[in-house]
Amino acid sequence: MSDCLFCKIAEGEIPSKKVYEDEQIICFHDIEPQAPVHVLIVPKKHIRSLDDLTSEDADLMSHIMLKIKDIASELGLDNGYRTVINTGEDAFQTVKHLHFHILGKRKLTWPPG
Ligand code: 5GP
Ligand code: ZN
Repeated sequence: MSDCLFCKIAEGEIPSKKVYEDEQIICFHDIEPQAPVHVLIVPKKHIRSLDDLTSEDADLMSHIMLKIKDIASELGLDNGYRTVINTGEDAFQTVKHLHFHILGKRKLTWPPG
């Protein structure tokens, strides 16, 4: 889609700190990280959000789900990581192109003490 930020990143039109790429997906560092490691996995196909998936996207979605652990491992997230998908306005989805956040290396202060 011509006016989409993540389509432009996927096409290399806008630069990104790339972590992984294949024919179906690209993974790059978030420009405003919310954790010491924060990357986004983005399908190259323009899909607006989880709400717009169809059965045609089943292979693509399973490809992404199976790649998450490889990318996490490559990034050294051996102690765990958080995977987030924001959908729509109430979730504050700011970029209207489906993306999976992977966040890691956070040191939580919970439980206290
Ligand atoms: P959302 O809130 O839509 O789930 O997440 C969008 C994410 O995209 C945010 O974490 C934001 O920091 C990131 N982002 C927005 N613009 C850019 C950009 O131009 N480059 C990169 N690498 N990340 C971006
Ligand atoms: Zn797009």
